[in-house]
Amino acid sequence: MVHWSPFISCKRRYPWVQLAGHAGNFQAGDYGKLLKKYCESEQQCLQRLMGDSLRPFVPGYYGVVQRDEQDYNLMDDLLADFESPCIMDCKMGSRTYLEEELVKARERPQLRRDMYDKMVEVDPEAPSALERAQQAVLKPRYMQWRETLSSTATLGFRIEGIKKADGTCNTSFKKTKHREQVMQALKDFVDGDTQTLKSYLWKLKELRTVLEKSEFFRTHEVVGSSLLFVHDGTGQARVWMIDFGKTAPLPPPRTLDHRTPWVEGNREDGYLWGLDNLMDILSDMLPT
Ligand code: ATP
Ligand code: MG
Ligand code: MG
Repeated sequence: MVHWSPFISCKRRYPWVQLAGHAGNFQAGDYGKLLKKYCESEQQCLQRLMGDSLRPFVPGYYGVVQRDEQDYNLMDDLLADFESPCIMDCKMGSRTYLEEELVKARERPQLRRDMYDKMVEVDPEAPSALERAQQAVLKPRYMQWRETLSSTATLGFRIEGIKKADGTCNTSFKKTKHREQVMQALKDFVDGDTQTLKSYLWKLKELRTVLEKSEFFRTHEVVGSSLLFVHDGTGQARVWMIDFGKTAPLPPPRTLDHRTPWVEGNREDGYLWGLDNLMDILSDMLPT
């Protein structure tokens, strides 16, 4: 799913591109800014991030605004300074649901026929004998199975979408799982350009150093958040963290290292493990 929004900012001369989420969630703001439908947890995170060492790696945040009786979080449009950019959304972490969601789904166990059908459509072999007999699955089981389809469970990140400078878009990476498949998608994203790969790797190194020291990062479970990669023909390549709707503060004094494998209860999200893997893949793509 790719949305080509008709809004054109005063700086930008091409339609804005959205690689994930619902089309109605975004509106153009003034002066290179963007409105994203209000979500309280996201607002809390963006606000805290403005006072954290991660600030240079997230869109600038300007508070809540109202338009047509709907609240929005106002932030920088990260595409505003680019000329026909290439864009990639990479969802980080080894799981994309919160522990809280798993608990909720378990409290009210419901056999889901719709989820069973989706499962069979992707992999007829996936349901167990019992699930087959019931023609239904439980939601937690479905949520965990879904993570094993892409590279989320095995590499700690997955590609959500890629838009290239020529306008071609691809958001069908749901089953892009193996290292070689990811490598191919990344190679295509940079059009085989080694310099762009090097620039991205350098930016990710900077980001990792800051993440490892960030107070915000240490004290939050970061789930469903993406890295937005943007480059254009001028040699500019940048990476930002976006989408904090499912980023949750930990009860103090708890902290995460973001690398320890997840077992239910430890709240680890595998974010840095995924970043290590992504950087390792990018390094492998560079000539030695
Ligand atoms: P989901 O939770 O399904 O991923 P969402 O509604 O939370 O979706 P985001 O993931 O925050 O939305 O953003 C969706 C897409 O919009 C991103 O993949 C990116 O293409 C674009 N986008 C989001 N924020 C920005 C930004 N600040 N500047 C430029 N583009 C953005
Ligand atoms: Mg997202
Ligand atoms: Mg989101």
